[in-house]
Amino acid sequence: SKCSQDGIFTKGELLRYGPIELSPSSGVLNYGQGLFEGLKAYKKEDGSILLFRPHENALRMRMGAGRMCMPSPAVEQFVDAVKLTVLENKRWVPPTGKGSLYIRPLLFGSGTVLGLAPAPEYTFLIFVSPVGNYFKGGLAPINLVVENEFHRAAPGGTGGVKTIGNYASVLKAQKRAKENGYSDVLYLDSVHKKYLEEVSSCNIFVVKNKIISTPEIKGTILPGITRKSIIDVARGQGYQVEERLVSVEELLDADEVFCTGTAVVVSPVGSITYLGRKVEYKNNGIGVVSQQVYSSLTSLQMGLTEDKMGWTMK
Ligand code: PMP
Repeated sequence: SKCSQDGIFTKGELLRYGPIELSPSSGVLNYGQGLFEGLKAYKKEDGSILLFRPHENALRMRMGAGRMCMPSPAVEQFVDAVKLTVLENKRWVPPTGKGSLYIRPLLFGSGTVLGLAPAPEYTFLIFVSPVGNYFKGGLAPINLVVENEFHRAAPGGTGGVKTIGNYASVLKAQKRAKENGYSDVLYLDSVHKKYLEEVSSCNIFVVKNKIISTPEIKGTILPGITRKSIIDVARGQGYQVEERLVSVEELLDADEVFCTGTAVVVSPVGSITYLGRKVEYKNNGIGVVSQQVYSSLTSLQMGLTEDKMGWTMK
């Protein structure tokens, strides 16, 4: 059936980066039937290359494919394709500490379809690009604005999967926030307009009296792989971490707020503006917890410390 998870993805090929052919009546162009993933490869000091939890990206794409009524590559096929692409582009992986190779897998309805229906054929492709650190200088505080007009996701929608349309819907708020001098937008839930959801491309954590809280995964926020990793890292360091409803009011007297994601890694939040009121955090948001989890995660990702979790992969 067209909504079955297991399609046949023929043996892939390596192509030079460039335009691809796509029918004007393809499912992705007309009905937004598309998903993407994002992960990074880091170079170790000995020159070898490390991937961070690529199986998690494969699983998330598979879960998203179910929601978008698409077949998806098997987990091993996804991971093998990522490895092959990275090896072929080894020379583009920046030296340790200077950045990483960003890997962008795409899965989309490339078959033609006119009436509203899943496309009859799909394309899975991966492209890569070297990237510097997202915020110049590593642990750089960001300034968020709480969005009051737009929502990113609604219950029963597609907020919990990495479908392309979710990103189209945030472009306007994102652009407006940047024009007003903010780094990014913080979204609230669309029902009560009071609980934290996430930022346009990262998850959020709030620290109060050494307890770390983060919005629970309930279908409207993306289950971030960095989020999941940071929860484990923080618990491993003895912190209590709660996944729960976090009210926007809790931002007002938090000790620390930070964001997590593949692109931003861990970013302390220096200030949050909510209904015209700006809350500024101590030390520009660079607190003990964000510093600790940042250094643990990045040294793991770059292969500078022993990987007891088995999260990195050559
Ligand atoms: N939320 C959204 C909306 C995102 O796009 C991302 C980036 N994939 C994240 C959270 C963080 O997810 P991850 O840690 O897997 O990069």
